[in-house]
Amino acid sequence: MKPYILEQTNWKQVKNQNYEVAILPWGATEPHNYHLPYGTDSLETAKIAEEAAEKAWQKGAKIMVLPAIPLGVQNPGQIDLPFCLHTKPSTQTLIFKDIVEALYHQGIRKLVLMNGHGGNDFKPMIREIQPQFPEMLISLVEWFKILNLSAYFEEDGDHAGEMETSVILHYFPHLVLPLEEAGDGNAKSSKLKGVLNKTAWIPRQWNKVSEDTGVGNPKKATAEKGKKYLDDVTTKIGDFFVEMAECDLEDLYE
Ligand SMILES: [Zn+2]
Repeated sequence: MKPYILEQTNWKQVKNQNYEVAILPWGATEPHNYHLPYGTDSLETAKIAEEAAEKAWQKGAKIMVLPAIPLGVQNPGQIDLPFCLHTKPSTQTLIFKDIVEALYHQGIRKLVLMNGHGGNDFKPMIREIQPQFPEMLISLVEWFKILNLSAYFEEDGDHAGEMETSVILHYFPHLVLPLEEAGDGNAKSSKLKGVLNKTAWIPRQWNKVSEDTGVGNPKKATAEKGKKYLDDVTTKIGDFFVEMAECDLEDLYE
């Protein structure tokens, strides 16, 4: 029963604490190659928030991790796959506004939105909602962008590859199929040079890009690699949670 995990704690605990910061993990529900669970993005992001919150709580930060939202934005060609729960950015904004509004009325003035899904583009959403609650400090943490992945993993890839498989192997080994059952996560590149050299961006047509839905080879993933990476990621995020709890909303710049 952790006092910083809302789903586990109770009114008796909440009543007697002055919580400063709410943490909102936000993932997606979609296939992750053959071997990882549909809930990968939500499960891993909630767990990273939990581990970071534990480190921050031990340093006295009064923070609360809210339940993860499992509704992400998907790409064309992915939307049609069974049980892929594509949620429009405009719907996400409505959900986010309701949560911010509830917290605001309860006196919470600091919120960390923790994104765990590449298709979720939350900066425009924050720019839309934050001015409606000017006294609310809203920050965005995208855990998968914080550290240089090549320092921890051999193969790159951004969907169910070596990094994400290592993360799930560490946190939820019982939810991973044997890696010999995983696809190789081979992803095709665009024929357009402007897209390849990053002059332009086009949403990837997922079913044409990847056979097994993965992008990135998971075969060299291990729980040990996941643990090493997550220790560093959660330490950085935990330190930021402490800063959020301690910061003075009237005095944020120097
Ligand atoms: Zn993912």
